[in-house]
Amino acid sequence: MKHLKQIAARISEVSGKPFEPHSNRSVGGGCINSALLLSDGTTRWFIKLNRAELLDMFDAELDGLAAMAETESIRVPIPLCTGIAGEQSFIVMEYIALGSQRSSSVAAAGEQLAAMHQATAERFGWHRDNTIGSTPQRNAWQSSWIAFWRSERLGFQLDLARRNGYGGQLARRGERLLQEFPALIDHDPTPSLLHGDLWGGNFSTAEDGSPVIFDPACYLGDREADLAMTELFGGFGADFYSAYRAAWPLAQGYGTRKTLYNLYHILNHLNLFGSGYLGQAESMIERLLAEIG
Ligand code: ADP
Repeated sequence: MKHLKQIAARISEVSGKPFEPHSNRSVGGGCINSALLLSDGTTRWFIKLNRAELLDMFDAELDGLAAMAETESIRVPIPLCTGIAGEQSFIVMEYIALGSQRSSSVAAAGEQLAAMHQATAERFGWHRDNTIGSTPQRNAWQSSWIAFWRSERLGFQLDLARRNGYGGQLARRGERLLQEFPALIDHDPTPSLLHGDLWGGNFSTAEDGSPVIFDPACYLGDREADLAMTELFGGFGADFYSAYRAAWPLAQGYGTRKTLYNLYHILNHLNLFGSGYLGQAESMIERLLAEIG
């Protein structure tokens, strides 16, 4: 890769240690970015690359990883820096050799996620906007969770869906839900530091068996929103949920609110990937309206 030298020079500068990689390997690559492992034989760095104009997305990821790392609860890659090399933006973070999820790490992940959620604040939101997939995610501070969920989450995605051509039933019933969903929020949530995009693809196990989460879209919100997302595409396993609940029990009504919180991600999938998600979004809205009665 053309700009490796520039990235290596930046790593040396920020880490304060000379870094001259003699090997680089393309690794997996996620949903959004291309990824690279750089090594000098002693130190390994994980790099994600994208177009230069997306630097802000990596800056927000760096802030999110740093905020989660600061809680010293669940392992995340420690971020080093972001930058621009040629036409590409990049983020550099600790490389963690990842294996497949192991049952012992699933229970630890539940307990440690509950500990991360104990990092709480006064208001909902975050000090900056970020992205969810490649969609902008707004995080304007709000003292009310209901107001936050209405304007920064559901309302934002419903507006985007309208602009993407889904103006019919989805918009009408979605509007109704925006008015009525507060009936489901009767548990007085605290603003907890959330990962924000905690599907199974962003959770793995390090070689020493410790759980690792990565690729966040952090904000301070109802911790149930993180848990709901773990259940959206398959679930993390019974031991994860029992360990989480043992550490910090959930309030009644989570089972219904889970659909409300996951609707945000399904609307985001509709906006990113198209009409294949329309039926699911509509049926989630109907289920919630029926529950409210
Ligand atoms: P994207 O932002 O493109 O979705 P991810 O952050 O999800 O990319 O990373 C892509 C893949 O790279 C992950 O699924 C994971 O297997 C691996 N990965 C992510 N972070 C690290 C890391 N710090 N060290 C080693 N591998 C990583």
